[in-house]
Amino acid sequence: MNSGNKKIGIYPGSFDPITNGHIDIIKRSLDLFDEVIVLVSVNNEKSGKFDFETRKRLINESIKELENEIDISKITVDSYEGLTVEYAKKHNSKFIIRGLRVVSDFEYEWQLYKANEFIDKEIEMIFLMAREDYTFISSSSVLELAKYSQNVDISPLVPKPVLKALEDRFNIKK
Ligand code: ADP
Repeated sequence: MNSGNKKIGIYPGSFDPITNGHIDIIKRSLDLFDEVIVLVSVNNEKSGKFDFETRKRLINESIKELENEIDISKITVDSYEGLTVEYAKKHNSKFIIRGLRVVSDFEYEWQLYKANEFIDKEIEMIFLMAREDYTFISSSSVLELAKYSQNVDISPLVPKPVLKALEDRFNIKK
């Protein structure tokens, strides 16, 4: 899988759950890399709403939905408890992909960048700006809408498998 001179990008995140904003970043990353690994990583500051296995399953199912649109064989989904930089090295990758929505994302991403640089200067972080339609989408806003605004149609914000998971979880009537 990770042999030869393949250029591999690691896209780490909580994906709790995956949204159409994340999907857009994954799709665009495929233009830059031969292979993209979507990495569900542990984030101590955020307590998970969906467990790891569910998050991974939802990512896999959401990617499967794209099979007529993109080459999904270039995408792998994995999870890791530890530093993304270490994971990247183990998987012969130098590139960590992140998305930027608003200015307030920048500070957090800057800290991550500096921490990663401190650990290993060889690692490059690649930042993709959110497309206009997706700038306001976050996992937490989607969860909040599903939970408290059950009359709002969230189908434009999340892939179908996530919509179904949210409907089941919050007992939303279709
Ligand atoms: P984390 O807890 O690591 O920030 P997230 O799942 O919230 O994990 O986000 C993973 C990455 O995807 C982050 O770089 C985040 O800025 C980016 N991201 C999240 N939502 C969007 C979106 N709507 N558009 C573009 N990038 C996004």
